[in-house]
This record gives sequence, C-alpha cells and structure tokens, in this order.
Amino acid sequence: MDDTAPARLVSSDVREHNRALVLHHLDRHGPAARSEIAAATGLVRGAVTSIAAELLEEGLVRHAQAAAQRSGAGRPVQPLELDGSGLAVVAVQLLLDEHRWLVTDLAGRVLAQGSELARTPIGEPEAVADALARRVSQLTGALRRRGVRPVRVQVVAPGPVLADAGTVYRAVDLGWQREVDLRGLVAARLPARSRLPVTVLNDANCATWAEFRELRAAPGLERVRDVVYVKADTGIGGGAVVAGRLLVGARGTAFEPGHVVVQPAGPPCECGRRGCLVTVAGPRAVLVAAGLAAAAERDGEPAALAELARRYRDGAGTAVGAVRGALGWLRQGLDVTVVALDPAVVVLDGYLAQLLPELTEGGFPAPAGPVDVVVRRAALGGTAAVRGAVALAREEALDASGSLQ
Ligand SMILES: [Zn+2]
Repeated sequence: MDDTAPARLVSSDVREHNRALVLHHLDRHGPAARSEIAAATGLVRGAVTSIAAELLEEGLVRHAQAAAQRSGAGRPVQPLELDGSGLAVVAVQLLLDEHRWLVTDLAGRVLAQGSELARTPIGEPEAVADALARRVSQLTGALRRRGVRPVRVQVVAPGPVLADAGTVYRAVDLGWQREVDLRGLVAARLPARSRLPVTVLNDANCATWAEFRELRAAPGLERVRDVVYVKADTGIGGGAVVAGRLLVGARGTAFEPGHVVVQPAGPPCECGRRGCLVTVAGPRAVLVAAGLAAAAERDGEPAALAELARRYRDGAGTAVGAVRGALGWLRQGLDVTVVALDPAVVVLDGYLAQLLPELTEGGFPAPAGPVDVVVRRAALGGTAAVRGAVALAREEALDASGSLQ
C-alpha cells in the first residue's frame, strides 16, 4: 500500500478516496502503468482503469511523455503521469518585512515564484489582510490570463494558527495581542466570484512539511514517516511529522521546541514562562554567553553569529564554552520530544547545527536506541515554508480532486 494515502474516509467518499490513491501514487512515484498503480495502491485493476479514464478526461492525468513500455508480446503499455497543468495552487508567506510566494500547477511545476519587500504594519491585521489579498489577486489574475485556474490559496503566517479556523492568535511579532481571523479577513477581500478556498498555516509547520518531503526524496529514506525538525535560527522553531502527517495540535503549537522548559527558574521568555530552551540556547543567549552581545548590537545578529562560528572553529575558549553550553541545553530540550514521539530521524537546521558536528556523533540517545540525526545545510533556505505550503495545498487538492471540476 502507498503510505501517503489519505487516512480520512467515510463511505460516500470511497470514489474520491480511490481517485486520491491513484493521484498520490503518480505524484510520489512518477509515471506508472495502470497495473503498477493497482499493485501499489491495493485497488483492483478494473477500478484503476475506470478511475484513470475519468482522470484523463478531467485533465488531471495524461499519458506519459516517455515512450510506451512493451510488456512481453502484448500490446504496448502506456504509462500515466500527473497532469493538472490547467489548475494551480498559490502560497503566500507573510514575513515582517517581506511577502514570499510560490505558485505551482497540480503536478508541482512552478508557475511563479518571488518575493518583495513589504513592511508589515504592526498591530493592524486589516492592513495586513489588504496587502495579502492584493498579492493573491495579482497572482491569480496572472494565472487566469494564462488560462490556468487557481483552486487553492495557502497563507503562511508567523504565529500560532488554529488550522481549522484559519485564526492566528498571539502573533507577538506582528503585535496581534488578540485572535485574528486572518482567513476570513483575506477571503472577504478576494472577488466573490473566485470563491477560492483560503487556508492559513503556521510557517514552522509548513517548513517542516517541506523538509519532510525533501528528506523522503533521499535514497533509503523513502519510507520514513516520523521526523522531528528543529531549526535554530532567529529563535528555535520546528515541527514534527507523525505517521506521515504533520502534527498540528489543538491550537497549532504541537511541538514548539524553543518553548520546552529546561531551566524552571531560568530567564523570562516572551511566551510568559521561564527558562524555555530559546532563552538559554537561542542565538541571543549564545551570543551573550560568548561575549558577543555588543557585536550583535552593532553589526546585527547574523554577522555576530558568523563571528561566533569563526571563533568556535579557532577554538576560542568563550566561544567553545557558549556553543557547548547551548548543545547541552538543546539535547535536554529535545530529549522530551524524542522520548514522546520516537522519531526515525531528527533533522537539525540553522546556525547551531552547522557548528556542532558532535550533534550527529552516535545519533540522539533514546530508550529504544539512538535516533539518527541529519544535519541539514539549509538546502531549502528561506523558501522552505512557502514550498511546504504549496505542497500541502496541492496534496489537499489531490485528496479532493472531485470538487475541482
Ligand atoms: Zn517560552
């Protein structure tokens, strides 16, 4: 069975579910013959043939461009591949001083991508929604002019999100002290005739999904379904994938590694508690411990972190002490997560991961034996969140392909 199959299923959705099995198989594995799809999905051959005919008709799949395969002396086998070139998903990420976007068709081919400086007015959700809706309208307008129909819009926000409701709450960086119905605000500003479904997701969760997909593309890791992703960047963020699904939680904050308390009487945290991991192992704390607080003030945090890396590699005492201290706290903070979620792989990204080859030595200790640690060199860089958002929107569209027509 293909383990990307959607898990939700009620009896009236059987057809939709089976269509999704076929579409997801083609999405993950590329062109395949009907018999291969049947073997991989557990559907009977006749069902695959009938679904394939329907999907061909709707333009969601097509006959693969590659030459037909010949099986024995029989008729040539014409593999199928995902098409969906007439339909698109749009992801727009809201940052404090920038919008980033990525638009793909349903097969994941990039139709538009970019970023533009856009200072976010702090404490003004309506103005933020105006700007987001303008951006979405620009992108969807360009699609329509090319004869491509947008089917989903995914907004990525820098704060906790109630995913079902699209409500952002306590987005400290945006100055939103109250709950904000960001989905409602953006949707209300889009033309009524477009009736585009809008969803809102948290940036760290989207980035986690992109990293999970990237990880599974690596040889030998195709079947990994449980991953913890931690990025020490401007703070310490991350997310988790459990049984192949993004772990979101009741209030969108499942697995916030930066806010695991490691020092109950430690420094106060912006979340209102004390001694969270970010307060002792976040970049600011590490720079203070390394005697680089003034440099950070003067030259900015990225430059000060680069200086920290240089001093650490040169073996300077205070830098080595500060980084090793952060490593100790990081291990302690992650221990709870590793015991709770039993991941197959821990992916570490951001400045700490780059500094600490020791992190990967012997894996991460866990009750059932060490967990592999993969240190990423930030392969996706700043685009991880918007890529994850597009992937999630595309997968949702494939799950509900019957409603796209
Ligand atoms: Zn905290």
